[in-house]
Amino acid sequence: MSDYRSLKSVDPVVYQAIADERARQNFGLELIASENFVSRAVLEATGSVLTNKYAEGYPGRRYYGGCEYADVVERLAIDRAKQLFGAEHANVQPHSGTSANMSVYFAVLKPGDKLMGLDLACGGHLTHGHRLSYSGRDFQVVAYGVDRETERIDYDAVEALARAERPKLIVCGASAYSRIIDFARFRAIADQVGALLMADIAHIAGLVAAGLHPSPVPHCHFVTTTTHKTLRGPRGGLVMCQEAFAKEIDRSVFPGIQGGPLMHVIAAKAVALGEAQTEEWRQYQAQIVANAARLAGRLIGLGFRIVSGGTDNHLLLLDVAKAGLTGKVAEKVLEEAGMTVNKNTIPFDPNPPLVASGVRIGVAAVTTRGMKEPEMDQIGDLIAEALRAPEDGAALAGARAKVRELCGRFPLYDALM
Ligand SMILES: *Cc1c(COP(=O)(O)O)cnc(C)c1O
Repeated sequence: MSDYRSLKSVDPVVYQAIADERARQNFGLELIASENFVSRAVLEATGSVLTNKYAEGYPGRRYYGGCEYADVVERLAIDRAKQLFGAEHANVQPHSGTSANMSVYFAVLKPGDKLMGLDLACGGHLTHGHRLSYSGRDFQVVAYGVDRETERIDYDAVEALARAERPKLIVCGASAYSRIIDFARFRAIADQVGALLMADIAHIAGLVAAGLHPSPVPHCHFVTTTTHKTLRGPRGGLVMCQEAFAKEIDRSVFPGIQGGPLMHVIAAKAVALGEAQTEEWRQYQAQIVANAARLAGRLIGLGFRIVSGGTDNHLLLLDVAKAGLTGKVAEKVLEEAGMTVNKNTIPFDPNPPLVASGVRIGVAAVTTRGMKEPEMDQIGDLIAEALRAPEDGAALAGARAKVRELCGRFPLYDALM
């Protein structure tokens, strides 16, 4: 049957694009803070025959026959998520972080209800109330920011805003914020105004699971996350909540906003959540935090300004305006030098988002490759080398050659090449 022919022979164009992408990942320095490289085991589960299976419903209560193995992997993923985070209830079906958040909003808010989240320009996520996202369209949004001086969340200001606005749901968590988030304080604020509290730990889930960032689980009614950032699983989402909200959340995910779950991805989530229970994995997360601090220190030593003066987690925001660049230019220059980052606004940025004055740099992916403190020093030097010669093609080519050499010492998916 022709169905059993390999991808290479059936569709050489797609095959080649995937091969090229593998080489790009292997020979470039991946510094995008929301990216990571999954294990071979996670990759295998993601590429498995479970992609064929319809399993609408939940384990033991499906709308389709033949779900016995789908049940096995989904039960495993749920149990492992609950165990890893100490949560009362977990739903592993959200296709993405965006759907995970939507499932909470639709479970507890009606159109027009008030939602309070961190401003995108201060590190929040589109789904925390940006006007171009469903979250900003369907709900009335109040945004809190960071303090101009410290560039950290000002909890007193959050409290004052919450008291004035009395939102129904407060969202904490961020996409570009390098400091510890005080979930206990957020809960105290929510309680004062009778709001529910949701933490979105999409970026820091791995750190939370490893005990390297305080957990939101004891303090929040809902905790959402992606599974593909520091958690190092397949691309997807996860919602956890207190038992009292379990039924509403499950109904909100399916049939509320999704149809059939992606069982191959859920199997891969189970694998990743299993990997996260090991001591080796906790050490890996600790190395991520150590690496980010080291890279921030190196860049500061080289004369760069880091937003808020440093980092407590896996990422940092580099203010490139001080170096005479825009985020847009810095992103392009670093790309030419073999380093992938994304431009990012910094607090009170005078530039619009598509230009921005900063770049966001994360170290989870390079840490997955095995890089440690000496390599962070080298990466800091390479970033400086590139940003100081933004128009010098030869200098950028030189940096790129060094990046390639560095990557060559930390091979990725070696056995798959
Ligand atoms: C990445 C991210 C998301 C969205 O995840 P997707 O899977 O891309 O939909 C949601 N919230 C935060 C804080 C994020 O950083």
